[in-house]
Amino acid sequence: MPPVIGYDIPMSTIFSKIIAREIPAQIVYEDDLCLAFRDIHAQAPVHILVIPKKEIPRLAAATTADEPLLGHLVLTARQIAEKEGLLESGFRIVINSGPDGGETVPHLHVHLLGGRPMAWPPG
Ligand code: AMP
Repeated sequence: MPPVIGYDIPMSTIFSKIIAREIPAQIVYEDDLCLAFRDIHAQAPVHILVIPKKEIPRLAAATTADEPLLGHLVLTARQIAEKEGLLESGFRIVINSGPDGGETVPHLHVHLLGGRPMAWPPG
């Protein structure tokens, strides 16, 4: 078995503290599996992070057991995009994993970005 990338580091990031309400955030959605809140450094008029309550460090550390949860995160992002009025104009979801992916917080999160045209390729 290959090592599971990311489970070797201690968890409990700032996102766990947001889930526990130990630090404030602009929460827009919550259910048993996930929480969504506005990004503190918004890169678009709508920039929301959808995070699992389960502490998965990054996509590289996810396993097949997480498949329903990952689907739930993506469809939750879609539901929030609808609530934010983005379905027709469009939106982007992004998951940064690891150093080259640009990940800065080691708690898996889906970025939902919208409200302006997105460029491609990403930087
Ligand atoms: P990433 O670079 O993909 O790991 O994304 C981490 C994101 O978390 C960045 O876009 C940050 O702006 C955002 N972020 C960090 N701390 C907070 C916070 N306390 N509340 C909301 N967003 C945060």
